[in-house]
Amino acid sequence: MSDIIHLLPDSVANQIAAGEVIQRPASVLKELVENSIDAGATFIQIVIKDAGRTLIQVIDNGKGMSETDARMAFERHATSKIKNADDLFSLRTMGFRGEALASMAAVAQMELRTRRAEDELGVLVEIAGTRVFKQESVQCDPGTSFQVKNLFFNVPARRRFLKSDNVEKSHILNEFYRIALVNSGVSFSFFDGDDEIFNLPASNNKVRIENVFGKNTKKRWQQQLLTIETTTNLVSIHGYVGKPEYAQKSATQYFFVNGRYMRHPYFHKAVLLAYNQMIQASESPNYFIYFEVDPQTIDINIHPTKTEIKFENEQAIWSILSAAIKESLGKFNIVPSIDFDQEGAIDIPTTIAVENVRPPQTNFNPNYNPFGTTNYKRPVLDWENLYGDFEKKEQQPIESSIDWESNADLAVTPSFSQQEQQQVIDNLETCAENFQYKNRYILTGVKSGLLMIDQHRAHTRILFDLFLNQIENSRAVSQQVLFPELLELSAEDDLFFEQILPDLESLGFLTEAMGNHAYSVKGVSSYVGNANVIDLLLNMLDKAKTTAEDPAASIHEVLALSLAEASSLKIGQRLSTEEMSDLIDRLFACANHNFSPDGKKIMTIFATDELEKRF
Ligand code: ADP
Ligand code: MG
Repeated sequence: MSDIIHLLPDSVANQIAAGEVIQRPASVLKELVENSIDAGATFIQIVIKDAGRTLIQVIDNGKGMSETDARMAFERHATSKIKNADDLFSLRTMGFRGEALASMAAVAQMELRTRRAEDELGVLVEIAGTRVFKQESVQCDPGTSFQVKNLFFNVPARRRFLKSDNVEKSHILNEFYRIALVNSGVSFSFFDGDDEIFNLPASNNKVRIENVFGKNTKKRWQQQLLTIETTTNLVSIHGYVGKPEYAQKSATQYFFVNGRYMRHPYFHKAVLLAYNQMIQASESPNYFIYFEVDPQTIDINIHPTKTEIKFENEQAIWSILSAAIKESLGKFNIVPSIDFDQEGAIDIPTTIAVENVRPPQTNFNPNYNPFGTTNYKRPVLDWENLYGDFEKKEQQPIESSIDWESNADLAVTPSFSQQEQQQVIDNLETCAENFQYKNRYILTGVKSGLLMIDQHRAHTRILFDLFLNQIENSRAVSQQVLFPELLELSAEDDLFFEQILPDLESLGFLTEAMGNHAYSVKGVSSYVGNANVIDLLLNMLDKAKTTAEDPAASIHEVLALSLAEASSLKIGQRLSTEEMSDLIDRLFACANHNFSPDGKKIMTIFATDELEKRF
């Protein structure tokens, strides 16, 4: 039998290789526009026809090419951007593989016109299926224009593989956004057929974001973006994050590093962590975050279509990122609030420290009698008495009307002083009647409508804040148990249990090691109620163990949450009027009263005008 291995003709080899780089019209657009950026263009015009099937044209005012380079550019592995493998680690350009133009030329009909500023004439090259049809001198503007026509004209299977125009167009737009958002200094004009769908002047990143996404919703974008900014010797991070209330199911999220779009699931988690408990679990914030690092410390994916990038200092950057976002969310005081219906009540802001408030001083003669008779007595209820009473209250712990929290540490949220807390409670007392619906929701009137609160989630939030505070400040109240129970663990679980033991103690769980991985449980958190203590501890241990593997999660929070869930009011529990108003007071004393610690909605409002429409 004769030998059977032979070399594929260049045209076939090129087509196969092209499949890697050029998968659809969007890939062409990406590669061409990136080349223009690398060529130092300050203005780039894009034209597509039929979702890029018939034509993709990119015109730039960049540095252009010499006659020889214009021809060389189409060779596989022809690049002006790197010379050797070491250069891969100091990349400052988008391209470096030298494959894009060769790939396009293998699967489309291309026309290149290019001129360097210093040349009198430019050059025209026409090439299709890797064959050069024309190369000649032409008159043209400095810069470069590429036309890619009839993509996959010679690969019918690929052409058929393309999706509907709408799908292909959305791929194109995605690629365009990824470049336009990080090159805000470059102006872009984008024609879809005869329609100019984008005209983006050179600007800063923020304005660019608004111009790209804010066609009819510019205001929405202007209102929601908070700046983040931090510089360390590892990384400098700047960009914008959306306010929590603008979070949505399919959010707009972009990471860039050194001018290049990237996907980074790990950093994404850092962002989500910063929003922890400010948004619903099913929603996600908008963000546009730009990292600058020493190119030596990242590894750009060698695969032409992959956008994942490895960072040398991933963990450190993770923390820097999360802290930067937390800081700006905190700085802008992003805590949603609700206006209670308190006709006639004094409107006292609940977040302003009021320690220094003094009763108003008035000069008057208490014996002055405007009626000239001696029978008149000033009413007892006056300012001094009101405040005198208030000061007394301040010194005593405030009595709770609900049993389960009678020995509660009242500083549910550390930022609330007792006095402030009292004011919130006083204000809410004037609020309309509460009503419990299906032993599950509390209904109450607020200024803008009817407020409905999920009692279980509300109580979970209250207890969670309290427990977290206890863990962090070690000041729980423990309740001794009459008959200590035995907690038996595996050797492996025991190791972990020892790690969380101090936290459990802070929560009020007192144990004594009995040897052989067993503990006698002598005291429990005073909130536990009827729950089975051993089950509860095992559950907390289990959750904490799972969490320990996830650097994005906090063990303290997990412990606080599982205890809060086990101890909070259940659905179906009947509440008295006092218990309801107490629950509401405590809920609104929590910094984040809108969402439960696991990101579920605690309350909803039926707006008055909505209700009115129903009648
Ligand atoms: P790469 O971008 O990886 O170098 P390409 O195949 O995309 O590979 O481009 C090959 C070369 O052609 C580039 O290195 C560059 O020198 C040149 N080139 C491509 N597009 C342009 C352009 N718009 N302006 C100037 N030079 C260009
Ligand atoms: Mg390129």
